[in-house]
Amino acid sequence: MFEPATKAERKQYYTEEWDIKKLPEFINENIHNREFGFDHLGRGPNDRHRVFKNSNELKKFLRIRFPFAAYCSVAFYNKPRRRGDWLKSELIFDVDAKDIPIRSCDCDGVCEICLDEARQIVSNILDTLKDDLGLTDIHVIYSGRGYHIRILDKNVMKLNSEVRSQILKYVVGAEVPKSKYSSIESKERNYYAQEVYKKDRAPGYDKMDHYLIPFGYPAVFTKRVKYAITNMNGTEKMEEVNPKLMKDVLKYREMVQKDEWGLFKNKIGPIRYRNLVEGISKLNMGLVDAKVSIDLKRILRMPTSLHSKVSMRCMEVKNIETFDPLKEAVPKFVSERKGY
Ligand SMILES: [Zn+2]
Repeated sequence: MFEPATKAERKQYYTEEWDIKKLPEFINENIHNREFGFDHLGRGPNDRHRVFKNSNELKKFLRIRFPFAAYCSVAFYNKPRRRGDWLKSELIFDVDAKDIPIRSCDCDGVCEICLDEARQIVSNILDTLKDDLGLTDIHVIYSGRGYHIRILDKNVMKLNSEVRSQILKYVVGAEVPKSKYSSIESKERNYYAQEVYKKDRAPGYDKMDHYLIPFGYPAVFTKRVKYAITNMNGTEKMEEVNPKLMKDVLKYREMVQKDEWGLFKNKIGPIRYRNLVEGISKLNMGLVDAKVSIDLKRILRMPTSLHSKVSMRCMEVKNIETFDPLKEAVPKFVSERKGY
């Protein structure tokens, strides 16, 4: 497993196994508005600007060319061949198992453990997208080495890159909640500023920690910090966290797992706690590839296509909680290999 596919295996895949009916409806229904791209030699998708009137044309192309990799745009165009007359784009969150900044395993590529952690991160992000932001029409694609969350909700498809970047920061927990939640900074703030804050806040509100506020962004941030503390292996690089602090975090992390945040913060101390969450917020930015989320004209690996580098099928995931890529995304030809 995870070995590259040969040319003969690619041909076998597209002739015998590839099924036009498995192409997700969200791609099929507007196929003529999308740009397609192909990689024929394993050197990147340099056959771009392809357009198909319908899925039968796509099928013919795949059978004849059995490409190394196939991609299609997240954008819809009136003139897809020239990437002209842009209409709208899906909002994408790309979680690549090999780039996860917080992981319990220290392999140097992708293994079963990393793939499962990518799955867990995707599941957490999905909860926030649905419950906090109220988004619908969300599809999860197993990419062959990680996951794409593809959102076709009409509320997001026309958004510009800047708003997409703000949504990204919200869902991954990439910013420490505003200083009004932090007791340390409120001590540093001058008297006047504190008086201004008090006017429209309940008493003591400006001394609250993010983990004491059970709704909105502080609640999302608390979940992401909990995930990070639970899953880190101690080798994560954070400027704000020295080896002694990292050691203490690992020593006391059981408290966070039991949601005993106050006890944990007491053990760590308020200033070091502040440093820790600052460091984690920056690491969280790397949970998702930000370049993909803000790019309105990106092409993404096409669901149903073959990821030839690792011999895995790119496919739509119906249930992220139970999905196991090693059972469901392995093409038939892999099990026919000698010594499998
Ligand atoms: Zn691993």
